[in-house]
Amino acid sequence: LYNPNTGIYTSPRPPVPLPQSPTTSIVDFLFRNLSVYSDRPALIDPNSHQIFTFYQLKRKISDFAKTLHYTYSISKGDVILIFSPNSILFPVAFLAVTSLGAIATTANPLYTVKELAHQISDSKPKLIITVDQLFSKVNGFNLPLIDLGNFSDLVAKSSNHAALSPSVYQSDVAAILYSSGTTGLSKGVVLTHRSIIATALMVTSDQEFYKEGRSVFLCVVPLFHIMGLITFTYAQLQRGNATVVMARFELEKSLDAIQRYKVTHLYTAPPVVVALVKQPAIVRRYDVSSLQEIGTGAAPLSKDTMDECSKIFPQAKILQGYGMTETGGIISIENTRAGFLNSGSSGVLCPGMESKIIHIETLKPLPPKQLGEIWVRGPNLMKEYFHNKEATEQTMDKQGWLHTGDLGYFDEQGRIYVVDRLKELIKYKGYQVAPAELEGLLVSHPEIMDAAVVPYIDDEEGEIPMAYVVIKAGSSLSGEEIQSFIAKQVAPFKRIRKVAFIEVIPKAASGKILRRELRQKVISKL
Ligand code: AMP
Repeated sequence: LYNPNTGIYTSPRPPVPLPQSPTTSIVDFLFRNLSVYSDRPALIDPNSHQIFTFYQLKRKISDFAKTLHYTYSISKGDVILIFSPNSILFPVAFLAVTSLGAIATTANPLYTVKELAHQISDSKPKLIITVDQLFSKVNGFNLPLIDLGNFSDLVAKSSNHAALSPSVYQSDVAAILYSSGTTGLSKGVVLTHRSIIATALMVTSDQEFYKEGRSVFLCVVPLFHIMGLITFTYAQLQRGNATVVMARFELEKSLDAIQRYKVTHLYTAPPVVVALVKQPAIVRRYDVSSLQEIGTGAAPLSKDTMDECSKIFPQAKILQGYGMTETGGIISIENTRAGFLNSGSSGVLCPGMESKIIHIETLKPLPPKQLGEIWVRGPNLMKEYFHNKEATEQTMDKQGWLHTGDLGYFDEQGRIYVVDRLKELIKYKGYQVAPAELEGLLVSHPEIMDAAVVPYIDDEEGEIPMAYVVIKAGSSLSGEEIQSFIAKQVAPFKRIRKVAFIEVIPKAASGKILRRELRQKVISKL
């Protein structure tokens, strides 16, 4: 596991072989064993009770791809924005786009027009796939719009055309998902077909491939995020498992879906586990005995919450995974076979993943039990940040190591613990909040001279965005006014939830904000 000569940690399990043929798209790979489970449910909508079998899913992807190509002239290399809440048509749209060799980019439906504008000007989509409730946000961009709510009519138009079979290479780009990375504004994380296939194999490597009595997954996390789209839904579909897609997490509706569809796996983010743990009386009203596994990722889940959860779901294993958009969504996961459960760790490295723990000053690799920056390398890593050489070079070095900006350590058994973040990123309920973006908005206020945004650790909510502001002499601007000034311009999860006034923002000689100092200030005030 740990090689003291190289300073490299490896997975306890051997790498999983990737498909040999260079022309294997994620859609080819998904259906490679179709004959085994063609009539089984692939995607389930718990609201309408509509089910797509794997056969129907394949048909829908191919029909939609024809529409994109023949009606909207989409072909290889074009970028398409998918701007939609979760639904069973979301994966259909994503897979149809990628089957043409076109590139999907996704955005949070809560985004404001201004937030969308940044992503649209950066990724330059040719078309937006959306739903009518979101039309008002995308109307002004002068791009053709496809309404997913109108799916049947749309695909009927091109039903007479022959099926398409463009050459799509594993090395072709499939998706550009946005993440702020270690610093600055959000950037396009470029993922190839190969990195998505690698993620899917790595994350499911300890699951049996399709057996009688298959697994049913409940997806309550957003499909615009890597975790919902790739790490859970795509990874399980290619395994022949079914996914129940919820529009969003609602406690009773989720419990009802678990009972109705005999969900075996709930993979989610920590706030959902916290909600379950806080309301055991509601959980007890439902038959959740089918649940075998509850997995979380995207932000840390404490050992206490994991233990509480085990009490409410005694039959289920509680696991934690760690990943980031730049690693195709996964780095490590609890290995259910190794008996490491409920340790509070983020599990062991996925097969094929290598890691180093680097001392932040000496840059020397560190042995187990010592804290440093987590570096990772593996077949699932992004290719680059879209059109951003500088950010790419800052994040990935010449030996292929991705510097995660997370602070952590390994124990002697090869389990990884993610304890803090060196990078700017704040995670509010698992969602990314980039301080640089909020700082830019704050200083655009005529009475704010300077500002810095840092995470404040709240017992109930986890990390919340907190602003330190320097206001103009004589200004009577209040904390509430500052909060509402920001709230008008950003999606709700990015709101500033705490404000402190300060005389000067601590900065290094280079002008870089000394965030650690401000975070220390928060801690010393507690
Ligand atoms: P994203 O790209 O949105 O998935 O964000 C990735 C970041 O989320 C990581 O670099 C970590 O800072 C954080 N993160 C993800 N999973 C975990 C975890 N299990 N424990 C602690 N932090 C996590």
